[in-house]
Amino acid sequence: MRGTKRHIALTGLGERCACLFAGALIVTGVIALRLFQVQVLAHPQAKQKAKEVWLRRIDLAPAQGNLYSRHLRLLATCEPAFSVWADPQTLRSVAQRETTLRHLSDEALASRLARVLKEALMTEQVTVESLQRALNQKVRYRQDGTPIVVRFVWLARQLQASEVRRLQALLRRKSQTLPPEWRVLKQGIGICQEFRRVYPYGRLAASVLGFVNRDGVGCYGVERQWDEVLRGKAGRIEQEVDALGRPIPQGFTALVPPSIGDSLILTLDEQIQQEAEGVLDEAMRLYRPRNAVAVVLDPQTGDVLALASKPDFDPNAYWRFPPERFLNRALSFAYEPGSTFKPIVAAVLLESGAITEQTTTECQGVWKGGSFSVRCWVVQQGRAPHGTETLADALCHSCNIAMARFTLRLPYTRLYRGLIAFGIARKTGVKAGYEEAGWLDPPPSEEWQTPQTRHHQACVAFGQGLMVTPMQLAVAYAAIANDGLLVQPRIVRGIKESKTGQVRWLKPYPVGQVISPATAQKIRQMLVAVVEQGTGKRARIEGVTVAGKTGTATKVVNGRYDPTKVVVSFFGMLPADRPKWVIGIVLDEPAFGKWGGEVAAPLFAAFGRRILWRVQPPRPLSLSQHLTAPFFLLEPAVSTPLPSARGGKTLSW
Ligand SMILES: [Zn+2]
Repeated sequence: MRGTKRHIALTGLGERCACLFAGALIVTGVIALRLFQVQVLAHPQAKQKAKEVWLRRIDLAPAQGNLYSRHLRLLATCEPAFSVWADPQTLRSVAQRETTLRHLSDEALASRLARVLKEALMTEQVTVESLQRALNQKVRYRQDGTPIVVRFVWLARQLQASEVRRLQALLRRKSQTLPPEWRVLKQGIGICQEFRRVYPYGRLAASVLGFVNRDGVGCYGVERQWDEVLRGKAGRIEQEVDALGRPIPQGFTALVPPSIGDSLILTLDEQIQQEAEGVLDEAMRLYRPRNAVAVVLDPQTGDVLALASKPDFDPNAYWRFPPERFLNRALSFAYEPGSTFKPIVAAVLLESGAITEQTTTECQGVWKGGSFSVRCWVVQQGRAPHGTETLADALCHSCNIAMARFTLRLPYTRLYRGLIAFGIARKTGVKAGYEEAGWLDPPPSEEWQTPQTRHHQACVAFGQGLMVTPMQLAVAYAAIANDGLLVQPRIVRGIKESKTGQVRWLKPYPVGQVISPATAQKIRQMLVAVVEQGTGKRARIEGVTVAGKTGTATKVVNGRYDPTKVVVSFFGMLPADRPKWVIGIVLDEPAFGKWGGEVAAPLFAAFGRRILWRVQPPRPLSLSQHLTAPFFLLEPAVSTPLPSARGGKTLSW
């Protein structure tokens, strides 16, 4: 009996076990299914959701490499800076637990927090309104339209240590001792370290360098054009946070600091640059032009030794300036060159053999060239006409009629080809930011004798009917200075790799022999005469021969030449027998002084004198004098031995 009962009991137990087992199986099955659904089927979405909500990621802008002058003065560098961010969602949920803030609407809460935050941040960068806008953000939309809860906004970027000091102190204080707004802010905002671009010399060469904006993007000038080389890798902070946005103590945290890109050694000579800026500042004060430009080239290497454009800006505070200040007018200002173009035409004429130095022509003040007429400037000034002239005389007197008549002996196609070879109507490739190509009408066909092309050709002879940039003209003059060999201008001499510290020096790039050395020499001699006896007398410098040409070009306003609006300029080289420097000075619409010989030539002389003074002997600049940033990182000098500077250190004539 006992045995049977036991058997039965055992059997009952077995049934119950089977039931339990089956039940467990079902439950397990359901769990497994659910797990399968969650982990396998829904996994990507689940993971994404977890990331959005639980993983806070802060992207840190990359840091740019340094910019050095040719003598390794630091022109631009990066220093540590502080950026402030917020998690608006956290701020709202934490505020719910504060009795004094709980009843506020989201907008009211944002403005309340913005007001107290503005008091703590010692910067003009943020306003109560901008903070309010940032803190009130709730949802952002991805490109595919899916909404994401905003858990990260920048409040202010790249602040100096002094600007965040008060905020740091407040965030460090114990919550109990803080007013309710700060108890909330303490949970939902943070400070992280980034880099900030600083320019130790302030405005020096600003239009060449450009600037880096707050998102770490290079804008204008070298910063823009060389962004890929200069820019390092972006960094990031990743942090696991709880539902309230508080970092989880044992959670995952990663910090990848931004890396610094390669540095550039520029061709700029900071001493000559400083003189260029000084001369232009003076010109702006004396003649009040709309814009002023100065270019200095080393004709043998194409090195841009100085490039100044006024009015300028301070790259340390670029946001205070209107965007038109950022343009480098040596590259972007295309204008009719006027008489400064005559030496280029003269070089093409001599080289082509169409005329020789002995060939003569006549100037009677006004010349009828068939369907058009050309006036010489003597008529305007009520002087006697120039009479019989050679090419040298035509340049010396800056006579439009002689230039036009000489030029018409050459087919336009040949003239065009010769001018294009000099780099006219194409970008110079200096790689210093945005550049205009200028303009010269291409020949309509091989037939050149139509009245229109003849008129056009006559105008080109004295620099009208075409557009050049100051840089293009300086490059053409540099070819004359360099015995006819045109070298591409350049702004970068070497690239210093951030990983190895090695400097890769870039070779000068000769574009081609434009005219023969003999022709180049003849033109230089003619340009010496312009300065010694002609319209460029005021460009003379004691103790050195100067070759150069003045220019006064009337501007076209509403389709007509407006005699009250002119561009005055002087382009020249020194010393004339073996030029070391090619210098161009251009003033756009001066309010006082309407002639290149009166205005630009003396500026050229003043500038040339200062270059000679500065370069012999080379004197170091006082860094502190021009320092606008309170501190900056000085990198140790380049380890690779530098090749001796080809132009600029010693005078050898
Ligand atoms: Zn004349």
